[in-house]
Amino acid sequence: MSGNVSSAPPRADASNEPETALETARRQLARAGSQIEISDNVLERLDHPAKVTEVTVPVERDDGSVDVFTGFRAQHDSVRGPYKGGLRFHPEVTRDECVGLSMWMTWKCAVMDIPFGGAKGGVVVDPKSLSEAERERLTRRFTQEIRDVIGPTRDIPAPDMGTDSQAMAWIMDAYSMQQGETIPGVVTGKPPSVGGSYGREEAPGHSVAIVTRETCEYYDMSLEETTVAVQGFGSVGANAARKLEEWGATVVAISDVNGAIYEPDGIDVASIPAHDEEPEAVTRNADDVIPNEELLELDVDVLVPAAIGNVITEDNADDIRADLVIEGANGPTTFAAAAILEERGVPVVPDILANAGGVTVSYFEWLQDINRRAWSLEEVTAELEAEMVTAWNAVRSEVESRDVSWRDGAYIVALSRIAEAHEVRGLWP
Ligand code: NAD
Repeated sequence: MSGNVSSAPPRADASNEPETALETARRQLARAGSQIEISDNVLERLDHPAKVTEVTVPVERDDGSVDVFTGFRAQHDSVRGPYKGGLRFHPEVTRDECVGLSMWMTWKCAVMDIPFGGAKGGVVVDPKSLSEAERERLTRRFTQEIRDVIGPTRDIPAPDMGTDSQAMAWIMDAYSMQQGETIPGVVTGKPPSVGGSYGREEAPGHSVAIVTRETCEYYDMSLEETTVAVQGFGSVGANAARKLEEWGATVVAISDVNGAIYEPDGIDVASIPAHDEEPEAVTRNADDVIPNEELLELDVDVLVPAAIGNVITEDNADDIRADLVIEGANGPTTFAAAAILEERGVPVVPDILANAGGVTVSYFEWLQDINRRAWSLEEVTAELEAEMVTAWNAVRSEVESRDVSWRDGAYIVALSRIAEAHEVRGLWP
């Protein structure tokens, strides 16, 4: 391999905070690329998506009028296998956001050694403004518009913000109807009755808990004596909090969009409904609610930001008092904030490892669909545990041998695997 190798990673420029997921993803790629021996030509290819499909999606509203929505599917890199990534329905979806998130999916699949590449898609729409019937028509028509670029060996969407297992079932049905045969492997995150996997819903939170457990053990922190604050009580946050409580940790703070609750002696997290069971249940009946920003700065052993991106920034990175940060959400720490935390010696285990249980069980679902054989929840749980510990160990090994941060370690593992695949396949023609 050729290319520039520098021993010291470039520092983040704190005066130049990245504003978009794409900017953050590109900076992270450049930084990781500077730390390993990798061809500049491969880095140049990885700086760009392979393809971005933009479509318009006409939908008949319940009153008979027609609205036209814009949708995207960004496909970043498929050198290790078909594209894989979520599909979000959100008013702030943009082309660049899809590209940035598709890059993260490429690294996430590679760090887990899953034979998929990265993709991400979305429709610019507030799903709360749609009736159930309108949401179904939008999902089916969007599937038709991107049908040529998806498929079980091409690109496999999954749920993300604003989409759920029902939406995945509609995509599977719309795609199968057009292809003339039932093809469950075209999407993951489906209900188990149509080829979905047991344990998929809990998987990202479950993997956050596994990674927290392993990292605490690494730093000689006993889970029984560990206090945890979790921002966001949805699919990721609630499942992580519940598992950590089950394994002996004391969860002292949790939150939803309206604020956080803090009980220094521990919260009975199992008794509080998660976002999909009852939205905003964390704060609904609470007497004392503190702002989400305060939760991030609590003096706890472990902080798990598991709600949204860009919550740890250069403005509050100096005030984070947790000894360890495990990223549950995608991109909760900005590039500048990551540099500040690294300087302060606060380990941050990155999203592409910590919440990768989601895509890992999606991979298990795809295998079950291809083989037409379902796994039991026990099989899924055991396989997820094994895959997460293997990936965590691969990253730990880089952290130790190169004396780099956990984020850099994860990027080095991912990028090395992707670069090797590019080198052996070559550039055609
Ligand atoms: P979710 O919708 O199930 O739950 C989100 C939680 O965060 C809710 O409790 C909500 O009230 C809270 N929240 C929303 N906006 C907030 C704000 N501005 N401040 C504080 N809290 C807020 O979402 P999720 O599926 O748990 O996803 C959370 C994060 O994890 C996202 O970044 C998502 O991209 C990422 N992620 C999700 C999965 C998955 O499969 N669900 C997998 C990997 C990563």
